[in-house]
Amino acid sequence: MRYRVNPKTGDRLSLLGLGCMRFTKKNGAIDQEKAEQVMAHALAQGINYFDTAWLYPGNEAAVGRFLAKGHRDEVVLATKMPQYKVKKTADFDGFFGEELERLQTDYIDYYLMHMLSDFASWQRLKDLGVAAWIEAKKAAGAIRRIGFSYHGGTDGFLRILDDYDWDFCQIQYNYVDERGQAGVDGLKRAAEKGIAVVIMEPLRGGRLADQIPEKAAEVFRKAGGTPAEWGLKWLFAQEEVTVVLSGMNSVGQIDENAAIAEKTETGALSGEELAVYEDAKAAIRSGVKVPCTGCGYCMPCPHGVDIPTCFHSYNTKASEGWYTGLKEYFMCTTMKQKPSAASACVGCGKCEKHCPQRLPIRRYLKEVKKHMEGPAYKIARRGARLIMRF
Ligand code: SF4
Ligand code: SF4
Repeated sequence: MRYRVNPKTGDRLSLLGLGCMRFTKKNGAIDQEKAEQVMAHALAQGINYFDTAWLYPGNEAAVGRFLAKGHRDEVVLATKMPQYKVKKTADFDGFFGEELERLQTDYIDYYLMHMLSDFASWQRLKDLGVAAWIEAKKAAGAIRRIGFSYHGGTDGFLRILDDYDWDFCQIQYNYVDERGQAGVDGLKRAAEKGIAVVIMEPLRGGRLADQIPEKAAEVFRKAGGTPAEWGLKWLFAQEEVTVVLSGMNSVGQIDENAAIAEKTETGALSGEELAVYEDAKAAIRSGVKVPCTGCGYCMPCPHGVDIPTCFHSYNTKASEGWYTGLKEYFMCTTMKQKPSAASACVGCGKCEKHCPQRLPIRRYLKEVKKHMEGPAYKIARRGARLIMRF
């Protein structure tokens, strides 16, 4: 296994991390025996970074049962505060205490504020006193490193990153999302700040692996290798990436991914290889609706529309199906303190003056609103507003 060091703390972390959220289920519950086989095999392969969360049903408890069998010291344990459920300061202790109990431990190595979506979501936690709470937990040794996971636009990510003395962050990043969410700009800024960057969704939950469009799979096959191999290689080669989480649920998958991590040299991608990714992306995007590159020159919108994210989600819907696109749209533009969906556009046209692609942004946003903000979206938005209010 290859290891990378968290530049800020000196921690030695395996380049391939175990995302525990995809353990095999049996009769609706986690198959503990199989989960423990997977965790033991991951350790045997040198994987030391295990990631779980309060949110994943039964997951922390399954990891905790394994750790209690003498493995606690072998693992860099990461879990997450369900910050969206925190309503008052005392809730921080409530959720954290529950997590320690589930995980059968008295400290968390890498602790994250789960799913921040914009600066306002972080500001809300600060207003509830999260900074003092973190400092107290760190001083007591109950939290060793503090970070956050993020789903939202690049601007929000950069503001959160600059606003606190983080030890690490976790972002969705892969060759398709290079310009979406925190994106390559977020990755590079975090690396410049000297903190570890943990990558989630390296293969978009399988949609860049076994569920990839056939035309793109063909591009990779012709170049030699599987889509999963190419997807992981793209990340392992980047020196700014510290850990790549993969939701592995079988011994075979661990072996395959560990071998890819082992053989990928940092910075090893040649011009020819990069051209293969471009061809695959073109194949994936052949059905896209808006030719937006995600450059962000049109931002900020004075009315709060996250233009690149609106287009990214709309394109995702066209290339990967309505559920994936709508989920991304909802999480990144709506499930936040200050929504940034296409419907907030007032048609002032300011953004269009800055778009190097000369896209008719207003016309495209109307299209996004029409196709992304249908009845299912509106029902979910009503629920989200209630959650945000209470
Ligand atoms: S046209 Fe719409 S998206 Fe563009 S700046 Fe104006 S309000 Fe924002
Ligand atoms: S400036 Fe144009 S291409 Fe760049 S993100 Fe905005 S809409 Fe997309």
